[in-house]
Amino acid sequence: MHMKSTAQIAAELQGYDPQSLTTERVSAFLNELVAPVTGTENVALFDALGRVLAEDIISPVSVPPHDNSAMDGFAFNGAQLQPGLPLQLRVVGTALAGRAWQGVVGAGECVKIMTGAVMPAGLDTVVPLEFALIQGDTVSIPVNVLKSGDNRRHLGEDLMAGHTALAQGERLGPAALGLLASLGLSQVRVHRRVRVAYFSTGDEILSAGESPREGAVYDSNRYTVIGMLKQLGCEVVDLGVVRDEPALLENALLQAAARADAIITSGGVSAGEADHTRALMQKLGDMAFWRVAMRPGRPMAVGRISTPPGDAKSNEGSPLPKPSAVLFGLPGNPVAVMVTFIAFVRPALLRMMGASTRPQVMLRAVSESPIRKKPGRTEYQRCIVTPSADGQLTVRITGNQGSGVLSSMVQANGLLVLAHGQQDVAAGDEVSVLMLNEI
Ligand code: AMP
Ligand code: MG
Repeated sequence: MHMKSTAQIAAELQGYDPQSLTTERVSAFLNELVAPVTGTENVALFDALGRVLAEDIISPVSVPPHDNSAMDGFAFNGAQLQPGLPLQLRVVGTALAGRAWQGVVGAGECVKIMTGAVMPAGLDTVVPLEFALIQGDTVSIPVNVLKSGDNRRHLGEDLMAGHTALAQGERLGPAALGLLASLGLSQVRVHRRVRVAYFSTGDEILSAGESPREGAVYDSNRYTVIGMLKQLGCEVVDLGVVRDEPALLENALLQAAARADAIITSGGVSAGEADHTRALMQKLGDMAFWRVAMRPGRPMAVGRISTPPGDAKSNEGSPLPKPSAVLFGLPGNPVAVMVTFIAFVRPALLRMMGASTRPQVMLRAVSESPIRKKPGRTEYQRCIVTPSADGQLTVRITGNQGSGVLSSMVQANGLLVLAHGQQDVAAGDEVSVLMLNEI
């Protein structure tokens, strides 16, 4: 398989400057760097939540399979309705959901019918119970409450047999699972899960459970990143915390490359770091090192780490050996890690998962106060969006925006995204917000 090197990809991107990359360039680069993993599997419908369809689903049946009533009421031939005139009908039978009425219905006649029951032959209209005046076995329909064809659901109005019900690349949510179930399917073919290895780097990083020591901080990145990976439906290989020691880092990177499709690390990628992460990444793979024009989260390393020779595990379900794993070297600061994951890693992983691309939906909200913004970088500010009484969305920034302050990330329900060229925002201006509820 032909693979472009990071240098080739960069060369093809106009205005590529690794010392100040726009977020758009980074996204374009990653789109070239990563490809969907090969390998699919059949899973039962209940196990398919969050998985990505690997095949188009052609509907084997029509849904609904026959015309049926949308209401409890009386079914009749709507051609008998005349403007300005009431209509009287005699009840000749009952149609229940799951038990159709088989008889013939003549002029001046109707059938009592329940929601979901098959429409008896020749009938196309249902008068709901609440409009019908019932006396014995006679039903009167007042003037102007009904048109011919009302309250009937058509065969195939949800799905027609032979049509594509869902296209491959669909990430299956509860509604899609219900749709598949409505076709009578009990299993589907999905892309295999993407396997992602993660480790935190840094001599000062403590694992949960270790005793505190001078100058050390507990590892939070492992929990935020692995949490986001699980939310995405990735298989996680947790390699813990790795100290800034070349031999340990090398071992962790090679293990990760052998076991996973993608590797995520945090820390050690800023220029002028005392650590060896950058040098090692460069030695083991084909890497690009960036300063992204964004805040928070400037330093980033991206590329591929070669699978150790002799250790090359084959890609499950694929005849091709796995030559390398994609590496996302994220900054160490806890909020920067989350923001760079959300902005870049998540879309790249979705692509690797085989999911079809969907535009990132942002909502527009009115800023409650002025916001300082330097043009020349994309800023992601933690914010809280609130609906006001008139239905308008307003937004305010959560307190401290320091790139290490996780508490304001917890308070936030969105990230306010201020584009590269944007200048200061005035109170009352509309801004774009990426909601965090699914991430
Ligand atoms: P670095 O990118 O390695 O220079 O780290 C930047 C900052 O983030 C430093 O203050 C680190 O202590 C902190 N940091 C790095 N990794 C983690 C982590 N896994 N959990 C919490 N803080 C971290
Ligand atoms: Mg460090």
